[in-house]
Amino acid sequence: METRGAVLRSMGVDTPYAESMPLRVEPLQLEPPGPGELLVRVRAAGVCHSDLSVVNASRPRPVPMVLGHEAAGDIEAVGAGVTDFTVGDRVVFSFVPSCGRCSFCAEGRPVLCAPGAAANAAGTLLSGARRWRDAEGQACHHHLGVSAFAEYTVVSERSAVRIDPDLPAEVAALFGCAVMTGVGAAVNTASVRPGESVVIYGMGGVGLAALLGAVAAGAWPIVAVDPVAEKLALAQRLGASHVVQARDDDALTQIRAITGGGADYALETVGSEKVLEQAYFATARGGTTVTVGLPHPDRMLQIPAVSLVAEERSLRGSYMGSAVVSRDVPRFLALYRAGRLPVHELLTHRLALDDINLAFDRLARAEAVRQVILL
Ligand SMILES: [Zn+2]
Ligand SMILES: [Zn+2]
Repeated sequence: METRGAVLRSMGVDTPYAESMPLRVEPLQLEPPGPGELLVRVRAAGVCHSDLSVVNASRPRPVPMVLGHEAAGDIEAVGAGVTDFTVGDRVVFSFVPSCGRCSFCAEGRPVLCAPGAAANAAGTLLSGARRWRDAEGQACHHHLGVSAFAEYTVVSERSAVRIDPDLPAEVAALFGCAVMTGVGAAVNTASVRPGESVVIYGMGGVGLAALLGAVAAGAWPIVAVDPVAEKLALAQRLGASHVVQARDDDALTQIRAITGGGADYALETVGSEKVLEQAYFATARGGTTVTVGLPHPDRMLQIPAVSLVAEERSLRGSYMGSAVVSRDVPRFLALYRAGRLPVHELLTHRLALDDINLAFDRLARAEAVRQVILL
């Protein structure tokens, strides 16, 4: 079928993106869904920092690629052998497809799925197929098995979770990445318990979602750290007990004072090894640092090795919130419906697909939390 989508052809172009236009909304041919695949009419797609990381080449991916990995939509057709979904179902995408059979899937850690990671690195669907062709007939890559900056997309059924059809797509979309990654980091990876102290670095979409997760889990105190005053104000409104200006020279001293010597958990959502270092030093003896952001692959972390042993500190990675999406999407959506996870507060901008480069400028300048493209 004929559709339109935002294609990235070269990474690392100059800013402002409104002028360099790294993403071009082009006519595309989309092949019908193969066995185990779904054709989805995309309704809403969030613009995430990991999309920007591909655009600015800090997380290189094969191009040309139809970008976008955080979205919700409605199923228009199903491929052969699909039994769990039907036409008309509303779905949220998972940006790691899980095969359900590899050793990681078998032990309940589907975000580590080996065939899923291989397909994502290659820019294909889980089956290895590519379903996009541009106007010249060249195959385009899929972004994390989703490619949501398009009117229609084809995904593996292993990349989708059915949700209630009455959920607004613009809110549901955020559950695919920001909410899963942030809330999951707090409640799955860190397993925060009531009364434990949490400090969160970075109040972007993921950091604010981690804050909502910490609030829902009953953490106290909850310290939000960011350089942007408006984001700290939003964090306070969403339940942070304290906020610390990241640029303050004595930020670490302030955090230690608030938490009585250091936090039980420090969550880093910025994707900077320097911030991760600070997060590590913001924890108490016995504390756990959870790293959620994605630093550039060349960056190294420097911490005193002995402190892991002598102070029983832990450093844990959290990919997609250590989620089991079939369990966590319904669970987190139930909290949203109950008013315990006010995810809609993260939505700061709504825009059209043709304005996508403007959205990346806003994101690069830290002027937005979550921008959603409505399709
Ligand atoms: Zn994302
Ligand atoms: Zn697997």
